[in-house]
Amino acid sequence: MKNRWSQDKKNECVEEYAQEYGEDLALRTYASGLIGEEKGLVLHGGGNTSVKGTFTNVLKKRISAIFVKASGHNLANIEPEGHPGLDLDYLLQLRTLSELSDETMVNELLTHRFNAQAAPPSIETLLHAFIPKKYIDHTHADAILALTNQRDGEKTVRDVLGNDVIILGYVKPGFALARAAVEAFEASPLSKGMVLMKHGLLTWGKTAHESYERTIELVTKAEQYLVKKKTRPLKVRITTSPETAKKRYLKVAPILRGLLAIPTKNPDWPFKRFILRALITKEVLNFVDSDRGKKIALTPPLTADHLIRTKALPLWVDDPQYEDEVKLREQVSNAITEYAKKYDEYFERYSKKMKTGLNRFDSMPRAILIPGLGVICSGKDVVEAEIVRDITAQTLDTKVKIAAMATYEGLSEKHLFEMEYFSLQHAKLDREDGLTLQRSVALITGAAGAIGAGVCQELLEKGCHVAVTDLPGDSLNSLVDELKPEYGERVIGIPLDVTDPKSVAKGFDMIIDTWGGIDLVVVNAGIAHVSSLADMDPNAFRKLEQVNIEGTLHILSEVSRHFRVQGTGGDIILISTKNVFSPGAKFGAYSATKAAAHQLARIASLELAEIDVRVNMVSPDAVFSHGDRKSGLWAEVGPDRMRARGLDEKGLEEYYRKRNLLKAKITATHIAKAVLYFATRQTPTTGATIPVDGGIPDATPR
Ligand code: ZN
Repeated sequence: MKNRWSQDKKNECVEEYAQEYGEDLALRTYASGLIGEEKGLVLHGGGNTSVKGTFTNVLKKRISAIFVKASGHNLANIEPEGHPGLDLDYLLQLRTLSELSDETMVNELLTHRFNAQAAPPSIETLLHAFIPKKYIDHTHADAILALTNQRDGEKTVRDVLGNDVIILGYVKPGFALARAAVEAFEASPLSKGMVLMKHGLLTWGKTAHESYERTIELVTKAEQYLVKKKTRPLKVRITTSPETAKKRYLKVAPILRGLLAIPTKNPDWPFKRFILRALITKEVLNFVDSDRGKKIALTPPLTADHLIRTKALPLWVDDPQYEDEVKLREQVSNAITEYAKKYDEYFERYSKKMKTGLNRFDSMPRAILIPGLGVICSGKDVVEAEIVRDITAQTLDTKVKIAAMATYEGLSEKHLFEMEYFSLQHAKLDREDGLTLQRSVALITGAAGAIGAGVCQELLEKGCHVAVTDLPGDSLNSLVDELKPEYGERVIGIPLDVTDPKSVAKGFDMIIDTWGGIDLVVVNAGIAHVSSLADMDPNAFRKLEQVNIEGTLHILSEVSRHFRVQGTGGDIILISTKNVFSPGAKFGAYSATKAAAHQLARIASLELAEIDVRVNMVSPDAVFSHGDRKSGLWAEVGPDRMRARGLDEKGLEEYYRKRNLLKAKITATHIAKAVLYFATRQTPTTGATIPVDGGIPDATPR
């Protein structure tokens, strides 16, 4: 394990934070960041660190304090605020209690912070508080878990790490673990650290540096042992190339995504969907195609900390028939049904022994291992799916190392259940934040225009995963650059030409590759042309036919096929125009081709209702810009209309505003709100049009 300590970087960190937060916490922040940088030490909010010191309260009294990592905060990017301060003297008194329930413990932690606004401290706070050492680092280091999670693990740990460490058998995190740990510490106070069997590692020191170095030293010892001890490598039976696996993934993902979706009782939202992320690497392929892959994969997680993300066990699909789609679907479906049945039985078995009132979680797997393909990971959004992917990658890697030298032994089913339903852990997961489209994937064509950009923004605000598509070029790139900083992994840019069916198919593949499927399509790409019929250039007219009609057709065809494979319904929204109902002179090419597109969408509503796909239209009056983004329509129509009416840009906007009943300026955000109305399925409506035009009497849909 690489020792990342750098005197210079440490000094920089101290300089940045010491004045405001004190040197102890500045050093704590620096060393915690080093631990967070290593996936082999902690993953996604796992692990925690602390420092003890003093705090001066409003009475100017200095009292003893502990600063401990906040629950769920990521060590990799921790700030000083990520270690809230608590009243240490008070916490130490809790040790005298014979029992302390999880709920009461959390209450005591929350009520003994120095700052009521601070983040809730880790559920392992008492473990840090009771052990009387200034700096403590707690990780779930893979190499240590590789030693603890095997038959005769305690002996192996002792042999490898020597007598400098304390070894503590598994105890569920919380008050009981904190007490057991301090008792073990008091029996061997000169130790450098403590190995928590099937859980992780604790090290301590007088300084942040000392504690950090001990973590690195012990983990390195374990790693060296693992390399040396490797005697029984896996036998790979078939070699699958990542390219073949990725092709298979594109085929399997929509089927799997449909089968994983959980039926609800709400007819407007009949399924709770998942977002998928693939884990396809040479190593993983060798694993799923090896002789012992299945046996090793279907063992308990390395540490209970991973369990709330990945569930206790993954799903394994036997011998998938990639060449026969009907058979493949049946295989995946049967495997999921069997998994869910076993999960329900496991819940029944243990929930009776626990307190009443446990809410059963869904029975769906989070990691699905498939020979010849790799692993497909699922979560309620891409962030969660990625966490599952990262944990799975680390877990398989570590389990392979264990399997090469010993027999894997994880936590018992009872302990797993206890942790899965450990209420405090779920604080980390409680991000069900009322984002209605959190589990959905949308594709928007012509996204780089004014309306497209406005629609992307609103969908992203509702939690949706959005594929921003348009012709390749600066406007597409700049929109993605604008959205990425705020929405991260929930936005991707895809160059797509709606007039080319191959380009459309490729765009769909890229989305499936990224998130596993598509649930919502906004058909927005369109172009305009100004000409009287007398002067119409047939080539210009054909160009509009290609984009506005054929482009719509290609998207509708592709998404219809996709929705049938996925089998969880879907939504299509066509950005139509008021010109369909109220055409304009010298605007024949646009009005006629958009009318055809509108009609195609209505046909789609007839054809797709049987698979619960709703197709609706939004028909706006002119929108010329969204922020600095000018619409393509504006580029075509603006100059001509300004000339014809003798108006400047502002004047023309005013003209459009005044021609509607409400005298309203129509914005891209207004159009986006109408899209959202359909996308969030507020009413059982299909084949309908919402006008967003401020009221134009002769454009009222009939
Ligand atoms: Zn832990």
